[in-house]
Amino acid sequence: MVKLNEIEIAALKKYRLSTEEAAPYETIKGLDLLNDDLMKRIFDKKLQEKLNTDKQNVIGSMLVKRYAFIAALVLYSMSVFDKGINSSIENVSLQTDENDPLWLPSFNFGNLEVTTPGSDRADWRAEVVQTLFLKNITKVVSSISSQTKIAKSVLWENIAVYVFWMYETLLKDESLTNEQYSKVQEDFHYVVIDAPPSLFGTKSRNPLSQFYQPKQNDIRTRKTCCLFYVTSTNGDRCTTCPIECSKTFIKEDAKNGS
Ligand code: SF4
Repeated sequence: MVKLNEIEIAALKKYRLSTEEAAPYETIKGLDLLNDDLMKRIFDKKLQEKLNTDKQNVIGSMLVKRYAFIAALVLYSMSVFDKGINSSIENVSLQTDENDPLWLPSFNFGNLEVTTPGSDRADWRAEVVQTLFLKNITKVVSSISSQTKIAKSVLWENIAVYVFWMYETLLKDESLTNEQYSKVQEDFHYVVIDAPPSLFGTKSRNPLSQFYQPKQNDIRTRKTCCLFYVTSTNGDRCTTCPIECSKTFIKEDAKNGS
C-alpha cells in the first residue's frame, strides 16, 4: 500500500488538497455535483450569495473554475511524484469554508492510497488521466452544463486553463532536474495533445487540445468567455482577460448565457 508522504502532502496543499474531513455542512460529496436537486439547493443557498449573481450559467462556470483545481492537484502528483491519486468522483469531496468570501473549496480524497508507475509508466499515466477525466471531470462538466445551461466548451476551457497554468508554472521551476523537466514536459504534451478522447469520454477529440494555443505577450487568448465579469460587484471589466470585453459583447453574452 503506497501513500503520499508528508512532503508530498505539503506540496499538494498548495493545490488545495485537504487531508482532514470538514463538518458535514461544509462538505459537498463529488457525487452531489451530479445530483440536480442537491445542486439546486447549493446554488440557491450558498453560491448565489458568494458569487454575487443569480444567473445559473455564471454560477456553473464559476463552480467549474474552482473545481478545475482538482486537475492541477492530481496531475501535479502524477508528474512530480509519480503517484496516482484515486480521483474517481466517488472518492472525492469538496471541503468548503462558510467564512471564505471567495468560496474556494479544497479536495478531500476518502481513500488516499496511490498507484505508482510499475514497469509501464505510459499505461499507468493513461489510467491516472482516465480516472481524473472519464470518472470525474467529464461527469461534472456534463452535469453542470445541463443543470445551468452553460456551454460545455466554456467549462472545458475553465479546466484547460488550470491544467496549462499548473504545467507552465512547473516548467519554470528551476529546482527540477533535467530528468524531471523532460518528464513534466512530456506529460504536459500527453495530457493536452496526445491523450485520446476515450480517456475523457468525449467523442472525437481531446477536449483540452482546442484551447492550447500559443501565448502572445505572455497571454493565451481564451476562446470562450468564462462570465467572470458578471460577478463583479462594481461593474469592473476583466483587466487581465484576453477577450476584448466590449459593452455590447457583455450584454449579448449574458443574454445568450454562453
Ligand atoms: S472577459 Fe472576463 S469574463 Fe470573459 S473570459 Fe475574460 S476573464 Fe472571463
